[in-house]
Amino acid sequence: MQNAPHIQPVETTPPSRAELARGEMLERICDFILKHDLNVTGSNLSAIGTALSGANAALAEAFVKREISGEPIDQRWLDTVARLDPGTGARVEELERLMDKMEYSMMRFAQSAKSAQDETSEHRGAIDAQIQAMSANIDGEANRETSGEHGEVDRVITLSRTMLERIEQVETAMERSQAETDQLRASLAKARTEADVDHLTRLPNRRAFERRLASASQQAQLSGKPLCVAFCDVDHFKAVNDTHGHDAGDRVLVAMSSTLNGMASDTCFVARHGGEEFVVLFYGLEIDAAMQKLDGIRRAQGMKQLINRETGKPFGKITFSGGVAQVQGVEDARDALARADEALYEAKNAGRNTIVAV
Ligand code: GH3
Ligand code: MG
Ligand code: MG
Repeated sequence: MQNAPHIQPVETTPPSRAELARGEMLERICDFILKHDLNVTGSNLSAIGTALSGANAALAEAFVKREISGEPIDQRWLDTVARLDPGTGARVEELERLMDKMEYSMMRFAQSAKSAQDETSEHRGAIDAQIQAMSANIDGEANRETSGEHGEVDRVITLSRTMLERIEQVETAMERSQAETDQLRASLAKARTEADVDHLTRLPNRRAFERRLASASQQAQLSGKPLCVAFCDVDHFKAVNDTHGHDAGDRVLVAMSSTLNGMASDTCFVARHGGEEFVVLFYGLEIDAAMQKLDGIRRAQGMKQLINRETGKPFGKITFSGGVAQVQGVEDARDALARADEALYEAKNAGRNTIVAV
């Protein structure tokens, strides 16, 4: 008879409290996504996670209010509420302040390094000249007499030469660190410019837009000239991605951005707000004129037949909807932006490929 195999009891450790909490949070996020039929994307997970965990109090509050109101929590609402998150603005400002400080410190460092370097070169030159003179003196005197005093002077000359070498090394190190600082400053300036540009479309991004919106509304208040803002969103863009793939979707966004940017006049400012949403500022235009202008762009876009150059298949007509609002007097320009977003919602509800002004 064979011996029964010896079975080791499997030791299981009960999950820790942190593990349980993590599991619970994942489950809540999962339930939320399924309940509201949302896409599993990085930005959705981040927005839902920070709202449900309470890490982002403003977002958590917006979620609760929306649930209570019974209005739909769909992709559009989530995109909007995550983007209009006031916390983001504060974080960006903090980052800007940090960058300003860094730039200032680097500028100060470069200045003091430069003056230290100039001073050092001057001293080096003086010491060098002094050593030459002393050496020449000794050589002359040595021809006439041999004195023990020369031993001491020789030592001073040797010490001075060592010092001179050391100064030269310090000078080289300073030159190097100055070059590095210059490079760092150039990288920081480039990073600043890049931070304002959307990588896909090369349009100004939301960050650049928000700054522009603030300054434009200040200018408008001072000059008394009108200022309008529009929110545009590509229609049924998800279907483009689903049918043609994400890369083709990206190319459509680039095409859309060049129509918007190409047709908007010099007195407009076009930016990508995020995803398939664009924003436009109309300087000096009253709401009717701004709406007309945007409607012209919408019509032109609607007449284009875009082709997927990778496959030769047509994308069909790619249209967009838009909402326009005028910045009123001294109001916070972000309120006008929120109204433009509501108008966009109406345009979508009205069947898309249309512009609504409020
Ligand atoms: P609607 O007409 O209501 O706006 O419908 P929609 O399909 O355009 O809107 P929805 O918000 O459901 O989908 C937007 C999609 O845009 C989902 C997301 O995957 C896609 N998207 C967002 N950013 C990008 C991007 O940079 N590139 C690509 N290819 N797709 C993106
Ligand atoms: Mg959208
Ligand atoms: Mg869309």
